[in-house]
Amino acid sequence: MTETIRVFAGDCTITTDGDTKRRRRGEVVAVLKPDDTLLVHDVDGYQPVEWLTRAETAHASLDGDTFTLVAATSDRRVRVDCHTCYGISRYPGSKAGIPVGICPDCDSALTRARGTVSCLGRGREYSIPRHARVGDDSCECGLPTMYVERGAELELCLDRGCGTILDAVGERFDREWDCPECGGDLRILRRGGIIAGCDRYPDCDTGFGVPNGGIVDSCACGLPVFRTPTGRRCLNTDCEEFEDNDSAT
Ligand SMILES: [Zn+2]
Ligand SMILES: [Zn+2]
Ligand SMILES: [Zn+2]
Ligand SMILES: [Zn+2]
Repeated sequence: MTETIRVFAGDCTITTDGDTKRRRRGEVVAVLKPDDTLLVHDVDGYQPVEWLTRAETAHASLDGDTFTLVAATSDRRVRVDCHTCYGISRYPGSKAGIPVGICPDCDSALTRARGTVSCLGRGREYSIPRHARVGDDSCECGLPTMYVERGAELELCLDRGCGTILDAVGERFDREWDCPECGGDLRILRRGGIIAGCDRYPDCDTGFGVPNGGIVDSCACGLPVFRTPTGRRCLNTDCEEFEDNDSAT
């Protein structure tokens, strides 16, 4: 995803809300971000002299050697009128994420911001589960691997082409548990999310979503107990035999 940060420098008058009391002039640098945030910096401190975060409208007009910037929301407006321009430039910009490795295709840095790992070399982006931990290990393809808790800690390549979560959960837990209704094997399959569904479908339509989290115990019903982000529970959310004996651990 290529985005552009624009930078404008010059001797400018900055007017806020059209109010003459809030009019200032100086040699400043204005930064216009792809999300229409406008920041105007002078020589002092870290704080902008004037700013508008995620304006509803923001535009720059160039007139000969000078520029005008206007950013506005429904109740605020910041205007920058340049008298003498020192420079206008545009740079490729990205989110500043946590470095997680090197792209095997182009040797650029891979960074993680929330649920996305992206290559700063304008390469691919990989969306990853929110709880995934990106470790120091790498896949045969060269990409870093991530660790996802789904019954067990599963190591997966960032690239689903090297293997999906469904494959990894299946490899570990396919036919691992018995159907509490009929005793058939529970198979790992995708129906919306990842589920453990009875092998005797459609004669038996028992099926349970496989939650995020690790298996920490087994329930009196025979199914595993998961520690999920919201607490411990039986694979069967409606299980009547499940007792939360969390104090034991
Ligand atoms: Zn790359
Ligand atoms: Zn891979
Ligand atoms: Zn069954
Ligand atoms: Zn149970």
